[in-house]
Amino acid sequence: MEEIVKKEGVLGLESPEQERMNLYSSLDWKDYKSQLRNRVRSQDLHKYFHLTESEKLGIQDTIRLNVGATPYYLSLSDPNDENCPIRKIIVPRQEEAFFSPEEAMDPLHEEDLSPVKGLTHMYPDRVLLFSNHECSVYCRHCMRGRKVSDSSERMESEDLERCFEYIRDHSEISDVVISGGDPLNLSDAKLDWILENLERIPHIKICRLGTRNPVTLPMRITDELCKIIESHNTDRLSIFCNTQFNHEKECTTEAKEAILKLLKAGVSIGNQSVILKGINDDGESMLRLHRKLLEMRIRAYYMYDPELIPGSRGFRTPLAKGIQIIEYMRGKIAGMGIPQFVNDLPGGGGKITLSPNWYLGFHRDSRNHVFRSAVRGTYHLSPEPVGSEYDDFYPSLDLETWEKIRENLYSVTRGLRLEEEGF
Ligand SMILES: *Cc1c(COP(=O)(O)O)cnc(C)c1O
Ligand code: SF4
Repeated sequence: MEEIVKKEGVLGLESPEQERMNLYSSLDWKDYKSQLRNRVRSQDLHKYFHLTESEKLGIQDTIRLNVGATPYYLSLSDPNDENCPIRKIIVPRQEEAFFSPEEAMDPLHEEDLSPVKGLTHMYPDRVLLFSNHECSVYCRHCMRGRKVSDSSERMESEDLERCFEYIRDHSEISDVVISGGDPLNLSDAKLDWILENLERIPHIKICRLGTRNPVTLPMRITDELCKIIESHNTDRLSIFCNTQFNHEKECTTEAKEAILKLLKAGVSIGNQSVILKGINDDGESMLRLHRKLLEMRIRAYYMYDPELIPGSRGFRTPLAKGIQIIEYMRGKIAGMGIPQFVNDLPGGGGKITLSPNWYLGFHRDSRNHVFRSAVRGTYHLSPEPVGSEYDDFYPSLDLETWEKIRENLYSVTRGLRLEEEGF
């Protein structure tokens, strides 16, 4: 092993470890601008990773967004382990080169639902504002890969002004989700200008910053940035932040510092993770991630299924995984650490939530609801109130299930089983 390292040195090819040391020592680590200037691109990946054949093909033939990673985020990845979760988010693999028949550039029809460039108006009271196309790290799984990292998708100030005008003209809108790209990749001055414009619209009460910078470039959360955010976080406007941690390896001391700064600026922070094959697609990984997030004072918000975008097959998991993950988590962590499992419906149907089946149905004869305990796996009865007119609202418990579980039912009478209660 030592010999190989030496030989590579002689040939002018340093080991990934050495190349990384060189990179890290060449920049001002805590300065976010220095981190951005020194981002790792497609052609640099071979220096920082022992690439697999699949990765080499992915880098060469990808149909997805550009490669880009901050030295900070790179430092969380493993140069030798091809299964490292952070590495899979940074480095394209062969699966990225295939456009599967079920995939589409814009599966959520965000463009059809766009009244002006950069704005998606799907729900009456909320809009999605595409503020810019840049990010600190270009995540291989990005669902907005059709626009992100593509400089032809640049939003000029006039484009943003047209968005503000639309929002101003639609008084039913009260909530603006700023996303991109990543709004925290805008300059302080531009972000200040956007927030100021939104704050001036009387019917806008809520603004959400969708940003992955606390994860990929925590040094971006500077005191100056926080001051700007805080200055618009006022009686008139409430600023929230939705971030996207996907793996416990991302929960570093630096990330926590960034989060605490945002909290001090009065920003409420939620996490929207994405279920990614081989990265976090099991209950234990998601549980560990969300435990770390609570330690960082981040509440769970959503957990998404990856969208049907071109080249996404390497990340997609069966729908069942999401339901199983939530089922696994319930009872093992505080409720504020359990996300809602969300599917954004293809074709512009909006988001829906899916949850495990803890409700087995209504036993009509005894007018009892039957539940399965998430903690113990036992079955429990709860009666519908006397006089309720909602009996028809509930799905019937099928009799076969009833026969199977009736011997083992728990009810309000602790310790007493059904038989003893005379059903
Ligand atoms: C996700 C999304 C929102 C915000 O939805 P919430 O469920 O309120 O977080 C708003 N507009 C569009 C188009 C979206 O996709
Ligand atoms: S930070 Fe968000 S928008 Fe940017 S590439 Fe990653 S997932 Fe996409």
